[in-house]
This record gives sequence, structure tokens and C-alpha cells, in this order.
Amino acid sequence: MTPEEFRQAGHALIDWIADYRQQLPEQPVLARVKPGEVRQSFPREAPGEAGDFDALLQQLQARVVPGITQVQHPMHFGWFPANASLASVLGDIASSGLGTLGISWESCPALTEVEEVVCDWMRQLTGLSDAWRGTIHDTASTACVTAMILARERASDYSKNHRGLQAQAAPLVVYSTSQAHSSIAKAVQLAGFGQDNLRYVAEDPYTRAMQPEALAAAIASDIARGCVPAAIVCSVGATGTTAMDPVAGIAAVARAHGIWLHVDAAMAGSAMLLPECRHLWQGVEDADSIAWNPHKWMGTILDTALFYVRDTAHLERVMSTNPAYLQSAADGQVTQYRDWGIPLGRRFRALKLWFHLHLDGIDSIRARLRRDLENARWLARQVEAAPQWQVVAPVSLQTVCLRHVPVDAQGQALADEALDRHTLAWVSAINQSGRAFLTPSVLDGRWMVRVSIGAECTTRHHVEALWQLLREAAEGRGDSG
Ligand code: PLP
Repeated sequence: MTPEEFRQAGHALIDWIADYRQQLPEQPVLARVKPGEVRQSFPREAPGEAGDFDALLQQLQARVVPGITQVQHPMHFGWFPANASLASVLGDIASSGLGTLGISWESCPALTEVEEVVCDWMRQLTGLSDAWRGTIHDTASTACVTAMILARERASDYSKNHRGLQAQAAPLVVYSTSQAHSSIAKAVQLAGFGQDNLRYVAEDPYTRAMQPEALAAAIASDIARGCVPAAIVCSVGATGTTAMDPVAGIAAVARAHGIWLHVDAAMAGSAMLLPECRHLWQGVEDADSIAWNPHKWMGTILDTALFYVRDTAHLERVMSTNPAYLQSAADGQVTQYRDWGIPLGRRFRALKLWFHLHLDGIDSIRARLRRDLENARWLARQVEAAPQWQVVAPVSLQTVCLRHVPVDAQGQALADEALDRHTLAWVSAINQSGRAFLTPSVLDGRWMVRVSIGAECTTRHHVEALWQLLREAAEGRGDSG
């Protein structure tokens, strides 16, 4: 494809994307395809001859669009806000178009230095001190694997053993809670600790936050058994109910034992753009690493996961390689991001953040986050005030966890299993209707429904419509389909 052909096709593609985004509210939220349907709409073999762009766009519309669950839809309340602001989409396009190679500072000095700049902007915007230096990973999962490897290597040194997995006699142990995201257990596994060495510390029964006293007791017991406590993963906004582990209390325990403290704020990190929310990670300055995803609620398109550490010397010692073909005269004067994480080659992800901040502006991003917080509080008030409805976890940010608990004529609530069937039935009816999408989840062994507010286009009007829909579906007041 020549640049001139690209220009024409590119204009058509941008028009197509703009139309697509404009028409999103008319689409069903949940993809309506059956398993295998998208795959079967494609030929078994790759195209042989060059095709034209219009035909490709038609196929994109016909084959791919039906297979998309519309997380940019204003009635998307599932999983977490997975916003992809159009400003950041432009940055992503610029990044692809530039075709850079990020394997060393020399291979693209701008890639390295813009990443340094935007990570520092984001540090300031979230109120972190200048003790932190950041990089952009693809996901919080990768950031957590990196943090666990850093913790493993530090603990190995502390215990005077050799670097590596569990080759040493004393098992290295990681602490978190049952509320932590599944990526934490995965990172623990991938970093070589083994699942047997992941401890789920007791949580507060209502807030689901880790209890620092229970953490201290678990650590003492492990030390007495000859284990080496290596890492604590503290969730600031755990996935299920947005539980907030108390960072300050946990950091005090971590410090007392020299344990690596990783803060996973993948979703809730966006809230730290708001000064009034920063008390939720009070004590974060005493952590060793932090990960959060602008590609969630803040809305810089995937993949944009920020990873901050304080001890960059340790990071580089653990992660660095120095093959001859990557050496240059700039070594020692510049950041080599290949020594800050797992991959060698990196994309120019910083452009997405820069474009997003430049074109939308932090004030409008903050206003949107505040709008979502207020919408969540509004919904929680409606649920609390409605008979037979319950808010089942604290609404610390934009997620409202709820249940509808019908009672019979004698005033008896449904028994557990029947209640589970009821919950799954009404949420499924809504999801299948295409009018909204919500994620059911299990809390204390029973199904509940998470309403995760914060899609970029979701206004109060949509949240009101959702509440109406919830009542219709669960109370049987009408047809949700
Ligand atoms: N941690 C938390 C608290 C999350 O909510 C998520 C995603 O939902 C993750 C980690 C994983 O994020 P990623 O998809 O960037 O790996």
C-alpha cells in the first residue's frame, strides 16, 4: 500500500469509525453471535490476491461488528469501564502510523522520552511524590508479574539465597486476599512462587478489606515455620466489590519485615486523579510498586497500564540484558525501557496518553469521573430505598453491588438457592435483551449483580433507565426483552 492509497483508505476508515461510534447506542450491548459464528464467517484460507478497501470495510461491518460486545455503549455496566476515548484512538493511530521500533533509546529516542514525560505527568496528576518513576506496560497483569519477580529477587537476596525460583530451601510467600483479581494468583504462579505459597489474608466481613493484624499474624506464623515472606499485593479497588485494602496499615507491616508491597489499583487508579479520592490509597508512598490502568475508567484506549517503582536500580538489575547489538554511546545517560519489564520490543503507547490528555484535558476527564461517582451514589440511594432491594457491599467508587430479594406473602425471603436462580434469571434477561449489560458475581457464596458505572457516554439518564430496567426484570413488572 502506498502512502497515497493509505490516505484514501484511512479517510474512509476514520469516517467509518466515527459513524460506528455515533450509532453505538442503537446496537445491542451484548454480542449476539453464537460460539464459532464469527470464525465460520471467514474463509478457511488466507486471501491470495490483493483486495479492495471498500470490500474489506463491508466485511468488517458484516463479520466483525456483530461479534463485538459494545463496552463503549452507554448502557454497558459490566465488568469495569473499558473506555476507549476517541482522542486516545487518534494517539494509537499515530503510534501505529509512525511505525517505530522500541527496543532501545537509540531505536527511537522519542518513544522513550515521551513515555518518561507522560508517566511523570500521570504521577503528578495522581498526587504521587517524585520518588516514583513509571513505565507503560500492556496490562496490569504484566505489571503484577514484573512486581512479583522483583519481590522474589529481593527476598532471595535478603535470605542470602541465590536468585531464581523456589530452588532455595525456604519457601517464599506472597500475601493477598480472596478479593484480589485473578491476575494476582496468576502472577504469583508465573513468578514461580507456586499457589501453595499464596496466602489469602482475612478480610473485614463487610468492606472485604485486608485486615493488617491478620496479615501480621500470618507473616509471624510463616516466619516461625521457616518460610520467607516476600510480597504483599494490596488491592485498591478489588474487582468484585471495589474493596479497598488499607494501604497504610499494610505498608507498616511490609516495612517492618522488608517485604515488597505491590499496590494493584488497576481499575481504581483512575479515581486517584481526583484529590478527594486519594485517601483511599493513603500510605501508598510506602509501597514498592503500583500498577493502574488508564485503559479502564480514565479512558485511554487499551493497552495502557502504568507501572511505578521507587527502586529503579533493583528493577534494572533484575530485568536488564545487554547484548552487543543493543549497546550504544547513549548507554548510561538514558532510560532503556527494555530493562524495566519483560518485553524487548515496545509500542509507542505514550502517544495515546498524550493525545488523550491534550485533546480531552484533565479537567473534563475529572468531571466525567465525578459524574460517575455521583451516578453510582444516586443508584445506591434508589436501591437502598426500594423494598426488597439490597446494596450488598460498600459503594467506594462507581460500582454498586446489589441483589433483589423477593419475599413471599408470609414475608419470607427466598431461600439461598432459589435466590441465586432468581438473580441469574433476571440479570440474564437484561443481558440477552441487548438493552443493557451487567456482570453477575459471587459474594459470600451467593450470586449478586455488579453495576459498574463509568462508560464514557453513560449519563444520569442512562443510569435512570437502567434502574427502571432492573426493577422491571427483577420484580417482573414488565418485559425486559
Ligand atoms: N486488577 C484489578 C483490580 C482489575 O480489576 C483488573 C481487571 O479487571 C486487573 C487487575 C487486570 O487488568 P489487566 O486486564 O490490565 O491485566
